[in-house]
Amino acid sequence: MCGVVGIIGNAPVAEELWLGLLAIQHRGQDTAGIVTYDNDRFHSRRGNGTVQEVFEQKHLLALTGNAGIGQVRYPTIGSGSEEDAQPLLTNSPFGIAMVHNGNVANYGSLRTWITNNYHRHINTTNDVEVILNVLAANLKDSSTNSPNEIFNALKAVMSKVNGSYSCITFIAGHGMLAFRDPQGIRPLKIGKKGKNFCIASESVVLDTLGYKEMRDVLPGEAIFINMQREMKSKIIKAKPARHCIFEYIYFARPDSIMDNVEIYKARLKLGEEIARLVKKMKLKPDVVIPVPDTARTAAQGAAEALKIPCREGLIKNRYIGRTFIMPREVNRAEKVRYKLNPLKCEIQGKKILLIDDSIVRGSTSKSIISLIREAGPKEIYLASTCPPLRYPCFYGIDMQTRKEFIANGRSLSQIQREIESDKLIYQSLEGMLKSVGNGKLCCTACFTGDYPTEIESDDMLRIEKDRAKQVSLWE
Ligand code: SF4
Repeated sequence: MCGVVGIIGNAPVAEELWLGLLAIQHRGQDTAGIVTYDNDRFHSRRGNGTVQEVFEQKHLLALTGNAGIGQVRYPTIGSGSEEDAQPLLTNSPFGIAMVHNGNVANYGSLRTWITNNYHRHINTTNDVEVILNVLAANLKDSSTNSPNEIFNALKAVMSKVNGSYSCITFIAGHGMLAFRDPQGIRPLKIGKKGKNFCIASESVVLDTLGYKEMRDVLPGEAIFINMQREMKSKIIKAKPARHCIFEYIYFARPDSIMDNVEIYKARLKLGEEIARLVKKMKLKPDVVIPVPDTARTAAQGAAEALKIPCREGLIKNRYIGRTFIMPREVNRAEKVRYKLNPLKCEIQGKKILLIDDSIVRGSTSKSIISLIREAGPKEIYLASTCPPLRYPCFYGIDMQTRKEFIANGRSLSQIQREIESDKLIYQSLEGMLKSVGNGKLCCTACFTGDYPTEIESDDMLRIEKDRAKQVSLWE
């Protein structure tokens, strides 16, 4: 879960990169970074925190150059420390800066392989560094590489790296290179303004910066834009598309369009599907209440289909972030209470259809339900806009151990009892696929266990172990 932006233009790009990263801040708040290139050298600013926390005006002024790349990061592999913040740079055979969104599933074995075969030093625990080094080791050690030679070097990347990766790279003296893994698991878009190009994780960046959307970068495709801003593209290695369906359900901004899916419309339809299930169960809720913020669009879709109001029954303190730090230990119920406050006037005496985008561990759902109960509802029906999550994600979404899932090894009634809702409604797999429109082109592995790439059991164990360590740090 990260967001990337790259721009090549005819005027300083630091401010546009900064604004672009702000537009996709929801994709990661742990680190932020920008590297620009001024035809002579790279300039870099990276740090822990949000875009607003990392960059002051003086930093943007120091980021000179008409080309650059940036990233906001949520760590999936790596310590999440400042040293792991992207963009990462290498100096050999050229200055190369790289950002990525995704997760290298075979990071451990690939790291060792690079050290043994290319004798290149890996200095961070950030998985983009292994992609960067495979690319660098396969570029020709001469003054320039033609676009075709650069595309050839990417063949090694696409055959060695297993997982999801949407990358933007800047090669000093050459230009900007963007590429997407062979199944296009993570999104990547390209847009144009005059002769300038912008490549970004979500279309909302192009909208915000006034670039006209050209298209999605295709699965397995590489796009190279040289210093004269001439674009060339090539499919390096394509397999059938498997776009992450979770982007549409939860992760992307509702005003983005990805791989021809309008996120807002998909979420409305997910809500309509929930309404269909509610009718089938002969439930008669009085009001639909979304768990803020991502479930709001689906809640509107459900309410319209059920012909009942959709109301804000939980008010969120928008100044509390995902990982808010307290000077003392607080439990999940307390955290939920500090984030959300129930509106008694919308809840008291009513049958509530509470809609959330997903149920992962169930502990947050249980705390929210308990909070709503204090406001005196008649009944609470909890609906998840996606089916039960049962399998870990190895492609960059933050849920990587089976044990985390409440739906793992429990029946519907057991889950309902555990989270203490009066009824529990899960989206059906068919309903989810139908709602996003291009369901056949999607990865649904966290629901079905059908992974788009083959993952060695050693890699699975390592990722689950790393994730368990990280969860224990956050708890
Ligand atoms: S496993 Fe789930 S979260 Fe991970 S890429 Fe596939 S659909 Fe997305």
